[in-house]
Amino acid sequence: MERLQRLEPIRTWQVEVSAAQLEDLEAPLQIGDVLIPSDRLVAINLVLDKVSEGVAVSGKVAVNWIADCARCLRQIDGQAAAEIEELFEQNPREGESYLLGDEFLDLTVMVREAILLELPVGVVRCLNVQECSEAAPSYGEKKNESSEEVSESDLRDPRWAALDELVFEEE
Ligand SMILES: [Zn+2]
Repeated sequence: MERLQRLEPIRTWQVEVSAAQLEDLEAPLQIGDVLIPSDRLVAINLVLDKVSEGVAVSGKVAVNWIADCARCLRQIDGQAAAEIEELFEQNPREGESYLLGDEFLDLTVMVREAILLELPVGVVRCLNVQECSEAAPSYGEKKNESSEEVSESDLRDPRWAALDELVFEEE
């Protein structure tokens, strides 16, 4: 991720990069069902300041995510926007600061972590509840009916069958 590694002589750093450039080698940008597709653009708007400890980075990063609504199953779009206030130093402290390389400042990990923290956690539903439930009702009823049928037959038939066999053999 070369573009994120150039430090000098940049003070402000405003770019849009593809989300693919933030992806970990193996992990997609995803928390549960909430996903940042690789082709989305990440808006990066940062100011880099040389301070005595290293380099202070502040500003904002933002990207759009998608998820399927848990109620109506339609796709939801949302935005994750993170405020950045981080320090890069040569001997970074775990969880507190990031590594300042000899020649480069690699912002990739910081941007990725900041964005992932802003993704919604848990069940995601449409913001417009009325529109969402109007799109959902037939699905909800069908699901309830069929799950009742399944649980009834699951409970009754196999148990009785097993019990019948047992009783019969003992007699
Ligand atoms: Zn919905």
